[in-house]
Amino acid sequence: MFYDSMMTDAEKAIQAEVRAFVRDDVSPDLIRAMDKDEIEYPREYVEKLAEKNLLGLRFDPKWGGRGLPWTAEVIAEEEIGVLGTALGCAFVMPSIVGEALHVFGTETQKEKFLKPILQGKCICAEALTEPRGGSDFFGATTTAALKDDHFIVNGQKRFVVGATEADVFLVYCRTNFDENAHKYERISALLIERGPGVETEYQYGLMGTRGGGTGRLVFRNVRVPKENLISDMNTGSLVFHQMMIPERLTSAAASLGVRAGLDLALRYSDKRFAFGKTIRKYQGVNFMVADAITQLDAARAIVYMAARAVDTGASNARRLVSEAKKFATDAAWKIANKAMQIMGGIGYTEVYPIEKIVRDIRLTQIWTGTNEIMSLLIQHEYYREILSSPAAMRNVEMDARGADGGPEKCFTDEDMWRVHGD
Ligand SMILES: Cc1cc2nc3c(=O)[nH]c(=O)nc-3n(C[C@H](O)[C@H](O)[C@H](O)COP(=O)(O)OP(=O)(O)OC[C@H]3O[C@@H](n4cnc5c(N)ncnc54)[C@H](O)[C@@H]3O)c2cc1C
Repeated sequence: MFYDSMMTDAEKAIQAEVRAFVRDDVSPDLIRAMDKDEIEYPREYVEKLAEKNLLGLRFDPKWGGRGLPWTAEVIAEEEIGVLGTALGCAFVMPSIVGEALHVFGTETQKEKFLKPILQGKCICAEALTEPRGGSDFFGATTTAALKDDHFIVNGQKRFVVGATEADVFLVYCRTNFDENAHKYERISALLIERGPGVETEYQYGLMGTRGGGTGRLVFRNVRVPKENLISDMNTGSLVFHQMMIPERLTSAAASLGVRAGLDLALRYSDKRFAFGKTIRKYQGVNFMVADAITQLDAARAIVYMAARAVDTGASNARRLVSEAKKFATDAAWKIANKAMQIMGGIGYTEVYPIEKIVRDIRLTQIWTGTNEIMSLLIQHEYYREILSSPAAMRNVEMDARGADGGPEKCFTDEDMWRVHGD
């Protein structure tokens, strides 16, 4: 792999460990049964991951993690991504919900929730999206009204992976009802345990990513103890922005698992004959392989770089994480389709897993914030970076042959009248 030379010994060790787990400990029967919707949620798989101490790898060992850096976690996620998006999601959910707890939770919350989550004893899920829309996250309408020592929660969340199985949900609710409040000061993050008033009312039939118990949750007058508030009242935006690091970086990293499909197609092309030669001898085929592996390595590079940026606290980490999510998932989609094309008709059948990989990967461009929302964030962050600081690099403006063409440097109506007079 291209970044092998950059990996530390600890990263190489976790890669080998997770690769062995993916190869030896997950039966094809589980993957097939999930894809046929015969299994609602892979609880035993999560328990197995926990037994091997593979959940929440970067968290403090005090709570059950391994204290590894983000770079190690993305390397592990690429390996897990080979199992598909449903098992990938079950692997990363403790990392996503865990981030909120690890960074903002109290010691009591960590003891009560983070520890059992990493031990595989408590299945967690995140409930952000509402039927009214996922992209406009801060417009959340699920409410949590504080009454003495508890909240009363009412509302709905949609597309929650683990809706049918999770023991605890991380839910963002509106807690500030002042209509003039800034959108970042309206919501709070609450941990809501399954119990009276929490209902899974609909389970979705999905194109891919099956077997994860994805459903719509309804909260009706749910009583939630005040101690389940993460961070302070009305600071849910802080929790959300922090959680979006694992949310998006894990999507990006796990989509790199598409390499398993590419490798399968490549081996196929080495055996399949057409017009008397193996199809890998045709430029039309082997150029598809070249394009796909180049895309994959470029995607790996951006994911690894984003992970390093988060580890080092770089100021542009947020932009790089969004870029990694967008670039890696778009690349994975192209690669999955190239793998299918190389395999011809048989790639479109259930004889090979390529069609499942295509179905799975399509979701990665939509969930954890669509790739259009990633574009919004990327340009916003880049404008902010560039416009908020003086140019550190050479200003090439004056290198133009016509750089002195004063009146032509006109940006507004006022400029035009100032420069040309009336
Ligand atoms: C299988 C599955 C699993 C999921 N798992 C979870 C989960 O566990 N927890 C959870 O909370 N959510 C989950 N989601 C929800 C997912 O994150 C949302 O579907 C996603 O954020 C998009 O929200 P939406 O579907 O409401 O689309 P909308 O927000 O309605 O967007 C529709 C379209 O409009 C575009 N759009 C919207 N606003 C803009 C804009 N300002 N500029 C440009 N384009 C825009 C979007 O990019 C998209 O193309 C899951 C979804 C699926 C399908």
